[in-house]
Amino acid sequence: MKNANQPTNVFLEFHGAAGEVTGSRSVLRIGAGDANSQVPLRIMVDCGLFQGSSDSRAQNWEPTLPRPADISAIVLTHAHLDHSGRLPRYCHEGYGGPIYCTDGTAGLGKILLLDAAFLEEEQAAYARRTGYSRHKNPLPLFTEHDANLAIDQFKVVPRNVWQKLGENVSFQFLRGGHITGASLVQFAIGTGDISRIVTFSGDLGNDRSLTMRPPVDLVETDILVLESTYGSRIQSRQPALEMLGGIIARTLARNGVVVIPAFAVGRTQEILYMIRLLENKKAIPQVPVVLDSPMASAATRMFLQHSEDHQIATGFNGGPDGFLPRYFETTHSSDESMAACMREGPMIVISASGMLNGGRVLHHLKTRLPDARNSVVFVGYQAEGTKGRYLVEKGKEEGRVRIFHAEVPVEADVESVDNLSAHADQEDLVGWVGRIQRRPKKIFLNHGSKESSEALKTRLEHAFPEIEILPIHSQGEFRIS
Ligand SMILES: [Zn+2]
Repeated sequence: MKNANQPTNVFLEFHGAAGEVTGSRSVLRIGAGDANSQVPLRIMVDCGLFQGSSDSRAQNWEPTLPRPADISAIVLTHAHLDHSGRLPRYCHEGYGGPIYCTDGTAGLGKILLLDAAFLEEEQAAYARRTGYSRHKNPLPLFTEHDANLAIDQFKVVPRNVWQKLGENVSFQFLRGGHITGASLVQFAIGTGDISRIVTFSGDLGNDRSLTMRPPVDLVETDILVLESTYGSRIQSRQPALEMLGGIIARTLARNGVVVIPAFAVGRTQEILYMIRLLENKKAIPQVPVVLDSPMASAATRMFLQHSEDHQIATGFNGGPDGFLPRYFETTHSSDESMAACMREGPMIVISASGMLNGGRVLHHLKTRLPDARNSVVFVGYQAEGTKGRYLVEKGKEEGRVRIFHAEVPVEADVESVDNLSAHADQEDLVGWVGRIQRRPKKIFLNHGSKESSEALKTRLEHAFPEIEILPIHSQGEFRIS
């Protein structure tokens, strides 16, 4: 006998981050196709941009499925553009419902979406001016107006409180530990003893960050959608602090300048705090530390406002246990940025972009690379085809790199501290699943390459033979109830 409260016809649809790490977009569809049910409830989890290869990015221009009119709510796990960057276009296409998120995600989302819209409009205008486009009239993927449409639809809700979305359907956010505001999202479908819990991990953090609190351990879930970005990899456990300290100390001792290409959200805050800790330990001298990236400064302010996500004892300019380096400076205008380029060492400069795709850091490198006293320190993954990847792999060997149409000699040290990822790796993911008190019957692995999700599947099956593991390699849907 079927109970009236029994959740029937529940489907999971994967519209992105299927066999790849970008374009996160899933839909939980409840109540479709049943003679008794009315219109199905469709809840979208994340609405991200496809990034990376041109084939992947081309998908951003296709009409977004499912149609905006069919979606009753969007739940956003975090502000990174591969999870949020398609919201402006989706709102432009007609989505007018709520976009549920945490306060931290709303704050960071506003910064990231407006910045992305600015770049889109600027690139389209440049392509029009120079004729550099296959299209007669190159258009931005979305405009500042579209970004504001999405931002106006943000509906901030607290973590750890169930929110009702419809008859017998509610959700709650739990700390994800990945970046400020990042959250897991749990849906409860049905009521009482026969309710089911479906959990989306979003991007999960790890417990090695010096700044971020780790993701919470789950009490229970029936179905888990788990990210697998680092499903095939185990990060080095060598302490990044000592590695960074050694490079900075050597450079400052020869009155050099340390240039750190920065990822504005997360990594920059981790680096600032590491410098502060190294100063406290007297592992490095106290020198001017210039943050030359307005977006990274905004993200740092946002980080400090959200103490629920980080583990820093005191805030801006705090005492000996404070967060920022002793002689910390930020720049605003491009004149101040240029002045920082010209200053004599010893000093440390943190500037965007992290993979040298553009931004102020290129000016710093043009000035600093030809001097052997200086160092460049990469603190994040350098994607194939980026200038950052070239400099790491070939910069010293070739002895030069092209910046702003000029050949720049590479005399400075080129270093990498590459175990600072804000993602959980294979070991972390298996450990996290193991700590779930009532473990899921089924785990879907998304947000990873085929190789990553298959490797994680093998590890998880070995550790938890009772769980069915399903790697998602292509877009599609699954019935889960
Ligand atoms: Zn992310």
